[in-house]
Amino acid sequence: MCEDKACHCGCEKLDVPKIFGSNVFNDRTMKERLPKETYKALKKTIQQGLPLSPDVANVVANAMKDWAIEKGATHYTHWFQPLTGRTAEKHDSFISPTDDGSVIMEFSGKQLAQGEPDASSFPSGGLRSTFEARGYTAWDCTSPAFLKEDASGNVTLAIPTAFCSYTSEALDKKTPLLRSMEAVSKQAIRVLKALGNKTARRVTSTVGPEQEYFLIDKTCYEKRLDLIVSGRTLFGAPSPKGQELEDQYFGAIKDRISSFMKDLDIELWKMGISSKTKHNEVAPAQYEMAPIFSTTNIAADHNQLVMETMQKVALRHDLVCLLHEKPFAGVNGSGKHNNWSLSTDDGQNLLEPGKTPSENEQFLIFVSALLMAVDRHADKLRASCGNPGNDLRLGANEAPPAIISVFMGEEFTNILEGIATGKKVQSRGQSFLHIGVDALPPLPKDNTDRNRTSPFAFTGNKFEFRMVGSSASISGPNIVINTIVAEALDEIATRLEKAGKNGLNKEATAIVRDAVKKHGRIIFNGNNYSDEWVAEAKKRGLPNIKTGIEALGYMATPLAEKLFDKYQVLSPKELHSRYEIYLEAYVKHVNIEAQASVQMVRRLFVPAGMKFAAELAAGIGALKSATAPATVQKELLATVSGLLAAAAEKLAVLETAIEKAHHVAEVAKRAEAFRDKVVVAMNALRKDIDALEGVTPTEIWPVPTYAEMLFKL
Ligand code: ADP
Ligand code: MG
Repeated sequence: MCEDKACHCGCEKLDVPKIFGSNVFNDRTMKERLPKETYKALKKTIQQGLPLSPDVANVVANAMKDWAIEKGATHYTHWFQPLTGRTAEKHDSFISPTDDGSVIMEFSGKQLAQGEPDASSFPSGGLRSTFEARGYTAWDCTSPAFLKEDASGNVTLAIPTAFCSYTSEALDKKTPLLRSMEAVSKQAIRVLKALGNKTARRVTSTVGPEQEYFLIDKTCYEKRLDLIVSGRTLFGAPSPKGQELEDQYFGAIKDRISSFMKDLDIELWKMGISSKTKHNEVAPAQYEMAPIFSTTNIAADHNQLVMETMQKVALRHDLVCLLHEKPFAGVNGSGKHNNWSLSTDDGQNLLEPGKTPSENEQFLIFVSALLMAVDRHADKLRASCGNPGNDLRLGANEAPPAIISVFMGEEFTNILEGIATGKKVQSRGQSFLHIGVDALPPLPKDNTDRNRTSPFAFTGNKFEFRMVGSSASISGPNIVINTIVAEALDEIATRLEKAGKNGLNKEATAIVRDAVKKHGRIIFNGNNYSDEWVAEAKKRGLPNIKTGIEALGYMATPLAEKLFDKYQVLSPKELHSRYEIYLEAYVKHVNIEAQASVQMVRRLFVPAGMKFAAELAAGIGALKSATAPATVQKELLATVSGLLAAAAEKLAVLETAIEKAHHVAEVAKRAEAFRDKVVVAMNALRKDIDALEGVTPTEIWPVPTYAEMLFKL
C-alpha cells in the first residue's frame, strides 16, 4: 500500500497510466467490452452527432452496467448541470425485482439515454410552468460515463447528460454549450473550405481551464459562519503579513498541502481528468491546478468534477477548499484562466501561427475573427463572468480589470498594423505582407506570454480569457466565446465564398485589414491595471462595466437575442430565463451575506466588544478604588464603546437596507438595490467591526483571525 495514509489509490505504488481513466467508460473500455458493430455504431453517433438508436443504447447500457458493477457500483445517476452553476444527481439503484422475491441488476438503453427527474426545484426562469414539472435528461455521449466514488466506498455510475424542459427548452448549461460548439464548428468549416481545405469535417473548440483555490484548516472554517454560508470572510482585520513578500507564488509546497494535492491528482486521474500542473499561487494559502486541455464540453464537465473533488478531498485532510472568487479581503482572489482554441479533425490548431504562407493566411483570418468577436461583444463576455464573487475581484488591483481588451504582443500588433495600413512591418524591416503569398516573420514564442494583466491574451497558440470566476461553471463564458466567434467566422466565410478562388488572397488580406482597422481598438499590450489604461479605454470607446448585474443587462438586449437566436444557441426565451435567474441568484447571494453579517455582528462581535468593555470598566473601577490612574483603560474603553455605538448604527442601516431591497418588485431593480444599498451598508459595518477586532484581546475575539486562517497550515 502507499505509505501515505491519505492516499486512497489502493495500489502498491503509484502506477499512473494504470490509474488514469480507470473509472471511465472510455474508448478503450468500450472497445474491449462492446461487440464490434455496436462499438462502431456508437463511435459514429459520437463523431457525427447522430441520435442514438435504441438497439445500440441497450447493448451499451448493459456493458456499462456490467463494468460498473464489477467496479463496485450499485447505483447510476444522470449527472447534469442546472442553472445553479453546480451539478445535480439523483441516484437510482440497478435493482429490479423478480417473481421469486429476489432482485437482478438491470440497466436498459432507455435508462441510459433518457431520464426524467422532477425539475420543479431547479431554477427555470419561467421556462417551465409549475404544472409541468417534468424535465428530461439526455446522455451527452461525447462525454464518457464515469464512476463517482465517495470516501465510504459508495460507487455510482454517472452519465453526463443535458437537461431540458418538456418543451425542449434548455434548463441547463450543457445544452447551449453543445449548441455553441456546433455553431462555431459549422462556420469555421465554411471558412476552411473557402480557404481550400478539403479534409477537415469538424472543428472543435478546446479549453484548458486553470483552477485557483484556497485551502484553510477545517477548525478555522467551522468557527466562521461567513465562510460556512457564503464561502468568503465578511469580516476580518488584515493580517500583519499578506502577500507582499511574494514568497508564496511557486514557493515550495508544504507537506500537508502536497499530501492533499497527491490525493487530488489520484482522484482526478481515476476519472480521466488530466491534472497536469500544481503550484502555490500568489496569495497565502492559495493554490492552482491546471489540466491538459480538452474538448470544451468535456473540459466543462471535468472542471465541475475538479471543483467538487477538491472540496471532498480537502475534508479528508482536515482542510477546507474555498472556491470563492474573493475569500479574503486584501490579498488576491481566485479566478479561472480559460485557455481557448479551435482544432480541426484533420489535426490543426487554428490559432497556431504556421510556417507556410497559406497556413499563415488561415491563422491570420482566425485571429481576425477573434478580434472582431471580442470587440463587438465585450459586454457579453463580461456578462458571462458576472457573479457576486467576481464583483469583488474584477477591477481591483489584481485580477484582470473590468475593461475587456486583447493582448497580442508588440510583434504581432506590428504585423497586424502593417497589414492594415499597407506599410512596412517595422520591427523586422519586412515589406508589406501579402497574405497567402508571404510567410509571417518568425515570432519568438516568449513574445506572447508576458502580459499577465490582460483579460484576453494571445498566448502563442490559444487565447486565454482570464476573467472567469473561480467558482463559476466555465460553460457560460465558452458559450459566449463560441457564439461570437461563430458570428465573425460566418461573416468572413461569406466574404471569402463571394470572392471565389481567384480573388481569395486579396479578399483574405482585406478581411484582416478591415478587422484591424475596425476592431484594432480592442488590442492593448500595456499594463491593464494602470489608470492611464482606464482613461485610454474610455477614449477608444471600450466598455468599462464595473458590476456583474450591470453586465447582465447586455444579455437582455434585442442585439443579444438576435445573436444567440441566429446561431441557435439560446432562443430569446431561453436567454431571458438566464437573465432572470442570474439576477435572482445575485439577490439571493448578497442576501445570504447580509443576513450572515447581521447575525455575526449581533451574536458574536457585539457580545465580544461588550465583554471587553465590561472588563475594562471593572478594571477602571478597581483602579479607582486603589486610587491608581486608569488613563489607558479609559481611552481604550472610549474607543471600544465608540466602535460599538458606530457598529450599532451601521447595523440598523444594513437591516433597513435589506428590508427595503426585498420590497423592490422588479428583479433588475431589486438586484441594483442589493448592490447599491445592501453591499454598501455591509462594507460600512465591516469597517467598524474590523477596527474593533484590532483593539480586542485575542482570547475574547470569537472567530479565527486572517493570520490564523492564511498562515496556520
Ligand atoms: P501558462 O498559462 O501557465 O503559461 P500553459 O501553456 O501550460 O500555461 O497552458 C495553460 C493551459 O492552456 C493548460 O491547461 C493547457 O492544456 C491549455 N492549452 C494549451 N493548448 C491549448 C489549446 N490548443 N486549446 C486550449 N487550451 C490549451
Ligand atoms: Mg495561463
